[in-house]
Amino acid sequence: MIVTRFAPSPTGYIHIGNVRSAIYPYLIARQSGGKFILRIEDTDQARFVEGATELIEDTLNWLTLEWDEGPVVGGPNAPYFQSERREIYATWAKKLIEAGRAYADPTPAEEVQKFREADNAAKIPFLFRNHRPAAADFTPEETLKLWEAGNPIRFKSDPKDYSWHDDVMGDLSTGPEVCDDIILIKKDGLPTYNFAHIVDDAEMGVTHIARGVEYLSSMPNYLALYEALGLERPHFLSLPHILAPTGNKKLGKRDGAKSVTEYRADGVLPEALLNYLACLGWNDGTEQEIYTKDELIKAFSINRIQNSGARFDETKILWYNGMWIRKIHDEQGNDALYECTQDFWPESAASFSDEYKKKVLDIIYDRLKTLGDLKTMTNYFFADPNLDMDLLIGNKFLKKLSERELIDLLSAVIDKLNSLKEWSADSLQATFNELLETTGKKPAELFSLVRISLSFAPFSPALHLTCEVLGRDATLARLNAVRSALTNDLH
Ligand code: GLU
Repeated sequence: MIVTRFAPSPTGYIHIGNVRSAIYPYLIARQSGGKFILRIEDTDQARFVEGATELIEDTLNWLTLEWDEGPVVGGPNAPYFQSERREIYATWAKKLIEAGRAYADPTPAEEVQKFREADNAAKIPFLFRNHRPAAADFTPEETLKLWEAGNPIRFKSDPKDYSWHDDVMGDLSTGPEVCDDIILIKKDGLPTYNFAHIVDDAEMGVTHIARGVEYLSSMPNYLALYEALGLERPHFLSLPHILAPTGNKKLGKRDGAKSVTEYRADGVLPEALLNYLACLGWNDGTEQEIYTKDELIKAFSINRIQNSGARFDETKILWYNGMWIRKIHDEQGNDALYECTQDFWPESAASFSDEYKKKVLDIIYDRLKTLGDLKTMTNYFFADPNLDMDLLIGNKFLKKLSERELIDLLSAVIDKLNSLKEWSADSLQATFNELLETTGKKPAELFSLVRISLSFAPFSPALHLTCEVLGRDATLARLNAVRSALTNDLH
């Protein structure tokens, strides 16, 4: 059975690259009927952030990446917080101590720093094993005493060549120069990532480790630990960096990449973010771009993960989001899309009914890039717009008409709409067509005048639809208000 895991550190910020390290293992587990574990790697107390675990859980739930074992849901390998697994790491560390493969290191930090500086000055790479203390050869009993006295535990490395297979990067190998006496258990009694993840993956039966390529350089030390602990190597999948929009560097906060929380707050749909990130560095060899989660589960394959960095492109996220907004509307219906919009209406919409907001959504959804656009694009459906007469008079079609002509044109529209029996999209459309004939004005002139009078916005949906949703009273009141303003101007 395939077992994968997502093992984030609770730092309070979920970079989109981190999410890809959750999506791929999730897809791999689901497509094989395997298991996906969530494990919280919280051994770095200095980086601990209140609420960060909840943020991780909430984000995975939002993306519908449900985990089979982990916080909240529990499981046979509980606890799933590394900070609660000290005894487990101690047991494994003792195995190494018994086997003469780990020692308690009494070297003071300042001393280590001196070694480092001396090696730097001599231009030789700093490796702690070149400064191994006498304690490295103590008996297990002596070592345990030194450990109890508060010294960290180090691995006693046996430098040699390593070769291994990475499911993404291919066959790799290194020489002995990278093997070192790495710290396994820190002074504070908590394990390092290097040690803890190996113990946990083994205990939890993880078969496939997918993580950022930055861990690749430590692989020889991990391989040495698997060997010393008598563990089988799992599959390794090193996921390439996500690259900044330009240049050849890793995507960072400064390149405009937002956290998942920010994209969510902007009104990016989880379906869109999942789709975008899954396809960032993976494709199934076809032209397909839009995938539901189920389609991703079917189509995903490890051997089509790219081994070079994928470039981040925010316009692509917005493109996916627009596609998903329309997909949900067209396949699941306007009501289904409306369910996703709750947090995104302008304040002015608060007192309006769901029915009314649904109507607004139904005529504007295909112009939304994010749900957050509702805030800026729909205000005039809920409150009378400010009469920005310069915007109206300066419009490129309307500036050819005199104020008198604008007033007359508005009067013709008002009269006609006043006498309209049935206020429906169809009859409104027919009315505007008739008005084109009776007034002899160009469509751009008539429609711009009415559109701006109703919305004073740079964009609004088709005129007959806007009028229908606004209703007779609001439509006529706004047209009248503009006519009065123009008339006052004339006097
Ligand atoms: N805790 C590590 C991180 O957040 C996880 C690396 C791994 O998946 O093993 O980067």
